[in-house]
Amino acid sequence: MAVLPLSVEKVIEELGKLPGVGPKSAARMAYHFLRSTRKDATRLANVLLEMDSKVISCGKCFNVSDTPTCSICDSPLRDPKTLCVVEDPLDVVAFENAGIYKGVYFVLGGLISPADGIGADELRFKELKARITELLDQDSSLEIIIAVNPSLEGEATASYVKDLVANLPEHDMVTVTRLAMGLPTGADLEYADQLTLKRSFEGRSML
Ligand SMILES: [Zn+2]
Repeated sequence: MAVLPLSVEKVIEELGKLPGVGPKSAARMAYHFLRSTRKDATRLANVLLEMDSKVISCGKCFNVSDTPTCSICDSPLRDPKTLCVVEDPLDVVAFENAGIYKGVYFVLGGLISPADGIGADELRFKELKARITELLDQDSSLEIIIAVNPSLEGEATASYVKDLVANLPEHDMVTVTRLAMGLPTGADLEYADQLTLKRSFEGRSML
């Protein structure tokens, strides 16, 4: 016999799939919604639905956006001569909050991780190549800053990008740099404090 109604079990199951949420926290959240007025659950459901229906990927950088091209790619104030390659949209948020970068971004959608079955084909390298070519059509030089976590996966991804650039016919117009290792190995870029991020950004070196 089930202890909880199926509808409650379903909510706990879904909440438990969220990053950093274990079964106990999921149950506590579900009880919170049960105890609170009905509007809390409805409001949450509505904002999630709204996000789901409105948010798309920017066609240029693949950051989250509610317009076909995001506000960063669209801005005339951003420098298209520097392209910062990151793992996910939260890394863009980290850089923007630190206020240290005025170029444009490219969101790979993950890192190469053979252990997790994520190879180059699962990531947006084809799109990255197209974006690099597009930027080089507009300008004769480009700095690509590889801003990925200092981990085995980060290393594998950085060297893949380096090789991708080396194989471009326009490779002599491109400089590839990597964030300095001010970030501790295994650190998650999106959680780095702004000063650490700033230091590793300013101390970036050629790859
Ligand atoms: Zn964009």
